[in-house]
Amino acid sequence: MKLELTRVVQGGYRLGVLKEIGRAAQTSLEVPGCVLYTRCGTVPHLTHDTLHTLRNLPSVTQLSLSTVAGHREVLEEYKDGFKKFAGLHDTALYCSLHDPVTPRPPGHITNKTVSVWGSGGRIELSVASFMALQKALRPDLYQSMADGETWQGDATTSRKRIRKSVDRTLAHLDECLLIHSQTAELQGAEMLGVVEGGDSLEERVRSAKETAKRPVSGFCLDGFQTGSMEPWLRTQLIAAVAGELPEDKPRLLQGVGRPDEVVACVEAGVDLFESFFPFQVTERGCALTFDLDISPDPERAVLELAEEGDETWESEESGDVGPEDGAQKMTAFEMDLKDTKYRDDFTPLTEGCGCYCCTNHQRAYVHHLLMTNELLAGVLLMLHNTAQYHAFFSGLRAALASDQLEPFKKRVLGRRVGQKKARF
Ligand SMILES: [Zn+2]
Repeated sequence: MKLELTRVVQGGYRLGVLKEIGRAAQTSLEVPGCVLYTRCGTVPHLTHDTLHTLRNLPSVTQLSLSTVAGHREVLEEYKDGFKKFAGLHDTALYCSLHDPVTPRPPGHITNKTVSVWGSGGRIELSVASFMALQKALRPDLYQSMADGETWQGDATTSRKRIRKSVDRTLAHLDECLLIHSQTAELQGAEMLGVVEGGDSLEERVRSAKETAKRPVSGFCLDGFQTGSMEPWLRTQLIAAVAGELPEDKPRLLQGVGRPDEVVACVEAGVDLFESFFPFQVTERGCALTFDLDISPDPERAVLELAEEGDETWESEESGDVGPEDGAQKMTAFEMDLKDTKYRDDFTPLTEGCGCYCCTNHQRAYVHHLLMTNELLAGVLLMLHNTAQYHAFFSGLRAALASDQLEPFKKRVLGRRVGQKKARF
């Protein structure tokens, strides 16, 4: 795996391509970007065929160990690895420890084990069982085992507990690296070391420095999930961590998906994200809608100037969602299609969106499907939301490449629900 950066802003964002990902070095991924979120290898609501009506999907698919940990025996018996088992072709497989959407009750971590939550409940993993699972799954890329229990929104997490999480995570990493080097099935696979440290600057820096000393291919930044801390603190800590990490290895941030938070974290030096956000939006019956056109349009500029009086740019620091309910609440990037105002709205979900839903259906039809609890509602929304989310990342990269980040932020992030200027 090779990270080629075309643009690096000192202490800020990085633009480039992650190349030669996977055992056959067959895929590449543009950064900043995201891996494709799945559950058990499938994007929720979508079949392989419906998913592939979308273009420009990420070439790396995320599998959460928690969703398959209960099926280790079957996978061991199968012998050919998870990609073949799940019919995943032409993609590199990245295996994370947790599903970013599934809640994790605290209090189930010991010196030697971590717990994950799958469909059958809690599963306790030691390094040996964690690595046995990796051996059966044969991912191209995977994160090492980590104790990330410092983020439960509990402001009283002690320094001692945070220190312990860093120590344990480093010990797990060393054990994982040793077993990795001795396992034939994992040759050619690459490991990401996990940076912990909760909200402690000192521990974050220590974790980053120590992890960077190990022979890892990149880094997972854990414990920064939406709701774990104030956004301004997260970006400060991430910038400090990024300063300690080698420039030529990728940094993947776990548990952050909101577009405003994504942009702030990209500016702090993050390369990769997990794309679970469109799924959360779909589950609440909402549709993402971005206005990604930042090309200069003199007529629109005049209109915007006239509107500026009643518009306040909502920055990521003054987000509309409190940390405690961040993951559940509708954001300013969505329209709630359950709202009766869409009952007779015969326009596409987003004008100009080329997804199957917007090409063939209108807001009124999706509203009707939601009201009658038809499964097709989830399918159409997930298609549309996935398309919009990846278009957002493409737009972000284009803005970074052309020095248009500020106009991009103003256009894409600077909206409030209910504003006259908004499309919905
Ligand atoms: Zn669409």
